[in-house]
Amino acid sequence: MTALMQTYARLPVTFSHGEGVYLYDTDGRRYLDGISGIGVNGLGHAHPAVTAAIREQADKLVHTSNLYRIETQEQLAEALTQVAGMESCFFGNSGAEANEAAIKLARLYGHQQGIQKPAIVVLEDAFHGRTLATLSATGNRKIQAGFEPLVAGFIRAPCNDVNALRQIAANNPDVVAILAEPIQGEGGVKPLQPDYLQAARQICDEQNWLLMLDEVQTGNGRTGTYFAYQDLGFMPDVVTTAKGLGNGVPIGACLAGGPAAQVLGAGQHGSTYGGNPLVCAVGLAVMNTIRDQRLCANASAMGQLITDTLRADSGAAARITEIRGKGLMLGIELQRDCGELVQRGLDAGLLINVAAGNTVRLLPPLTINKSEARELAAGVADLIRAHT
Ligand SMILES: *Cc1c(COP(=O)(O)O)cnc(C)c1O
Repeated sequence: MTALMQTYARLPVTFSHGEGVYLYDTDGRRYLDGISGIGVNGLGHAHPAVTAAIREQADKLVHTSNLYRIETQEQLAEALTQVAGMESCFFGNSGAEANEAAIKLARLYGHQQGIQKPAIVVLEDAFHGRTLATLSATGNRKIQAGFEPLVAGFIRAPCNDVNALRQIAANNPDVVAILAEPIQGEGGVKPLQPDYLQAARQICDEQNWLLMLDEVQTGNGRTGTYFAYQDLGFMPDVVTTAKGLGNGVPIGACLAGGPAAQVLGAGQHGSTYGGNPLVCAVGLAVMNTIRDQRLCANASAMGQLITDTLRADSGAAARITEIRGKGLMLGIELQRDCGELVQRGLDAGLLINVAAGNTVRLLPPLTINKSEARELAAGVADLIRAHT
């Protein structure tokens, strides 16, 4: 028993420390981390650049509030907008908050054009967070049930269905934006088709809608480019990110460009410690390390190595329906539900996750090397062969 609200079904393990792709529990047992705190620890555990940034900034200044200018926040906004090809940035403390900023931005953009009840198109099986607005945008009834009334102003569309978007455009003059994950994470590592996203971009242009991409999970090098859309040949208007940006310190960002860049003005959004000196110093260290150590390229190469290793294992491959995803965001769909593999993995010293019931989800640190990637793939193949 603990004094915690019982909001999580936790595994029976407590970690005491970590190093690189490995975690150690309180009994000293070692685990290979194939999930990185749900895609957060892109640089692995106890990365020296992150530790140094925390130490150095904590020694100087942790928090001042957004009543004042913050040097590291301005620097991180500059770095992020530059890598994203965006113009402006707002910092919150989580992925849900990054999406809340995007939702508010889209609504205000609508009101500025005289649309009284602006609506945002969201997709089936989407995950955008657990706050009221973001759970309303999420396409999963389990996450919404019991929390009605939901926030209004979202229109649900099937994934990869361009005609459905065109129909919504024809029937709903109040739409102001589309919000979508380039690769659905919680939904089961399901990439949207590049053609579909390209068509969505075109419809947004025709209709004056904002294309808003939720890169909370796909961003910060995870899929082999800094943001997943950078492989697609077009630009969104709004990008949200969080998980991998702080490597574990709480930070989220909403980036905007073009017509979206200057929508939010003074007093229209805020967060007491969003983008404080500490988390932004860490975000800068994370971004610099991703660039200096070429971790986007490593994510591509190691993702391919893990996929190839799994496919080469005929016993495991026979039980795999499909391997989806990109870079180090991988979903291995099996022929049947496989939730129990999480505990089996833990028993075997391997941390993995299962999404959408039948899909093993891997989000290892971007720093993973060849031998560690082979170890991860072999461990997953063993689990699949032995238990499914
Ligand atoms: C994790 C996630 C969120 C929510 O992030 P929190 O930090 O848990 O609020 C939103 N969108 C996507 C795509 C995510 O993967």
